[in-house]
Amino acid sequence: MVDLPDKSAAFIDWYLAVVEEAHLTDKRYAVKGMNIWTPYGFAARRNLDRVIVREIEATGSLPVEFPALIPANEFAKEKEHIKGFDAQVFWITKGGESELDIPLVLRPTSETAMYPVFALWVRSHRDLPLNVYQIVNVFRYETKTTRPFLRVREIHFFEEHTCQADEAHATERVRSNLAAFRKMAEAYALPHLAIRRPDWDKFPGAHVSIALDTPVGGARTLQLGTVHLYQENFSGPYGIRYEAADGSSHLVHQTTFGLSERLLGAIVAVHGDRKGAVFPSPVAPYEVVIVPIVGTGGGDAPRTAAAELRDRLLHAGRRVYLDDGEERPGAKFYRWELQGVPLRLDVGRREAESRSATAVDRLGRRGTVAFDRAETEVADRLREFDRALAERADDAFRAAFAPARGLDELAGSSQVRYLSWCGTEECGHRIETAIDGALLGTPEGETPFTGGTPGPCIACGRSDGARWAFAAHPL
Ligand SMILES: [Zn+2]
Repeated sequence: MVDLPDKSAAFIDWYLAVVEEAHLTDKRYAVKGMNIWTPYGFAARRNLDRVIVREIEATGSLPVEFPALIPANEFAKEKEHIKGFDAQVFWITKGGESELDIPLVLRPTSETAMYPVFALWVRSHRDLPLNVYQIVNVFRYETKTTRPFLRVREIHFFEEHTCQADEAHATERVRSNLAAFRKMAEAYALPHLAIRRPDWDKFPGAHVSIALDTPVGGARTLQLGTVHLYQENFSGPYGIRYEAADGSSHLVHQTTFGLSERLLGAIVAVHGDRKGAVFPSPVAPYEVVIVPIVGTGGGDAPRTAAAELRDRLLHAGRRVYLDDGEERPGAKFYRWELQGVPLRLDVGRREAESRSATAVDRLGRRGTVAFDRAETEVADRLREFDRALAERADDAFRAAFAPARGLDELAGSSQVRYLSWCGTEECGHRIETAIDGALLGTPEGETPFTGGTPGPCIACGRSDGARWAFAAHPL
């Protein structure tokens, strides 16, 4: 048995212990920050991706896959972009024994891979909108401490890239992305805020960057993903133009939407507890684990009954695992709790006779599941489990925020703070210094916290231009 560190007192230690002990990753690979996707972690990732694909394709986006290597000259076309990524890219300079004429960049993200080709694909207004996405690995030379799923050098990455006729359509695309993310987040039971980043913290080359942030304990937040409005910042240098119906020529307005394996880190961080990981059922590698309990004199009945139950649930399309290994039942219970399985069904002699399994969900709630109605009763229990888990996450989310009415309230904050800010960079940096973290930015749309008119800026006291903003310690 593993003694997990305390989540609230030693969050990072707790997180690292859980991802490792739950067998979600193996970080013993010989390149720092490049971890191995183990079978259990891979299954969780595949389920996460399934939700992403379902929701993004519902908005009319189509899958593509571009090469991983980008010629240096294409990479360098958008100046802010190359400046932003300069210190973070892996370079390929040799092919076999020869130096390459044009060095290659291992994609840190795919704007500069795709956009020279978008210039060929987009000709007329009839080619718009162009909405495509890919799920690929991208590479960033992280110099900060790497952590599984949260900060890595080889990133499992979802990126949508779109071309729109004008700014209004691009803004609409951003809205549609944020709505798609709300549906994904519902499946992950991840409460979050959409926050417009301040100018000094935008994605390199973006006109507007909206981040999806969630609190993960104390004043810490995790950025789950981002949506960016590029305007013509990339279409200009890459020459992505279209001919309108009246024959006039225009640059497209572009948007992107990015998500990564951080979502898996966030699910561990938000839902996990003192017993380990907790998976909402849409993401869980196994939704149900069945444990036969073979005591003395029980014969084979529990095993046979457990196998029957497994087959029924498999045929109903459930992800189910029959744990008939040699370990004692107590050790199995402990293991599956640590690995975050939503629902466990125990089958002993009594259960085999009554054809009714003892059900225990990962929040500790007990009941029974009749073999002959297992399909519907398991579906009901999982739905109820997901609802309760989402409610627990929502309660923690609401408790994670507190207002700040002066700079002096920010030091040593153990919550994410919302406050009034005049919008100037100078005051923004004063707020960041006071909290020793970041001004995350201003809310995009409604939040449960920031109703009403904000007061004067907490840094300079001015009321004109004052708006709500959030400050925290991003992980
Ligand atoms: Zn101010």
